[in-house]
Amino acid sequence: MWTRFLSPVTMASYAIIGGGIVGASVAYHLSCRTDADVTIYERQSPASETTYRSMAILGRTGNETMTEMKRYGLSLYNDFFSDPKANSRFDLTGSLAVATTSEGDAELEDSLKKESKTGLYTAGGKHEPVEYLPGDEITRTAIVPYLRTDDVEGTRYRPNKGFTRPQEVAYEFLERATENGVTVENNTAVEDVIVEDGAVTALETERGTEDVDHVVCTAGPWNVSLAEKVGLTLPVRHEPAPILQLEPDRSLPFTFPYTHHHESGIYFRGSHEGDIYVGKHDKSTTYEDVEQLDPDTVRDSVSIEFRDLATDVIETLYPFLLNADITEEWVGVGSRTPDRWPILGWTDVEGFSIAAFHSQGIQLAPIAGHIISRQIVDGEPTEYYEDVSISRFDGYSDTYSG
Ligand SMILES: Cc1cc2nc3c(=O)[nH]c(=O)nc-3n(C[C@H](O)[C@H](O)[C@H](O)COP(=O)(O)OP(=O)(O)OC[C@H]3O[C@@H](n4cnc5c(N)ncnc54)[C@H](O)[C@@H]3O)c2cc1C
Repeated sequence: MWTRFLSPVTMASYAIIGGGIVGASVAYHLSCRTDADVTIYERQSPASETTYRSMAILGRTGNETMTEMKRYGLSLYNDFFSDPKANSRFDLTGSLAVATTSEGDAELEDSLKKESKTGLYTAGGKHEPVEYLPGDEITRTAIVPYLRTDDVEGTRYRPNKGFTRPQEVAYEFLERATENGVTVENNTAVEDVIVEDGAVTALETERGTEDVDHVVCTAGPWNVSLAEKVGLTLPVRHEPAPILQLEPDRSLPFTFPYTHHHESGIYFRGSHEGDIYVGKHDKSTTYEDVEQLDPDTVRDSVSIEFRDLATDVIETLYPFLLNADITEEWVGVGSRTPDRWPILGWTDVEGFSIAAFHSQGIQLAPIAGHIISRQIVDGEPTEYYEDVSISRFDGYSDTYSG
């Protein structure tokens, strides 16, 4: 008894590091598949990091496999929104990519021709509808009252995109997981992962040591440093993602479309509360363009360069926002993989699985939970194995021997 008191040891078969939307989904999916102990260790409170800072756009873009993965998520989210236990909701806004140069316009049109060639937007309703619209044709296609079209060369319009409340969706997973018996240990940082003879045996948390059979690392941008603790160098880098929250000087009598300025990467997203978020996502940025960051060193003040660029694009596309108040700002940390696909599942350390994303973690959290729970409970890979396993990268392997 005394030994146990001095060095507390409790059994937890499945330990999840990180209570963001991905950890919450993995916990929920595990709880649907097994009666074994499942515990989430979250160093703060759930969904308070990348998930909280996310724009949470949902849609069905990507190739056949990616679309199938997203369809799994949409189906599960339909279930969530039809019986919400948390305060989750979804707003259909449509999505506009706007080009203001002739080169950008040609790129938008070409991107659609490619999709058309591969049948991506005609394949039996399996992909979302998308249109290329030259010049200001968008003003005769969608409700975009404040869009200034003087400089617009063309747009790509996807009417089926929208956004959700990412934190609330994570809570939805957690509500359902805890109903199924999952334990959530908040304010409990994992400090080390103990590996003996190539297999995970225990976690060291700030509250003591926990014996575990399986660890699933879902720590968002902190995955890299946690993986290092088991000797794994993750092919994941980071990109700061700045956001300004604007309060317009008027209420908007329409649903503000998600708008992405093709040339600069500046985007605009409405919110349930009437604020407009302005961020930057340059789709041409590659893994090679960015580096690994310590997420704890990324501060929440946006750079002057970002502010200036955002102001330029506001002047060009949405000048009514020049009068808006900036009510908040923050910088999220986006994760990036070499091939833009997530890394999900087994690693070459027995009992240590990973869920790392190239963005899109809100959309892909459901399928990540499905894939990982199938692997570690049933020992079965899914049909997505080749696309998402870490073993697709040179120099990496995993414990699957099928
Ligand atoms: C600005 C921005 C916009 C985005 N827009 C979209 C979008 O439109 N659509 C989309 O699908 N995706 C989007 N993403 C990506 C998406 O938000 C992420 O992929 C997703 O939130 C990742 O979730 P996660 O649970 O893996 O990570 P997180 O939400 O970061 O959760 C990780 C958790 O791990 C915890 N943790 C860390 N270290 C430890 C430790 N040692 N011990 C215990 N706990 C620990 C953290 O406290 C945190 O709560 C966006 C991201 C950003 C930054």
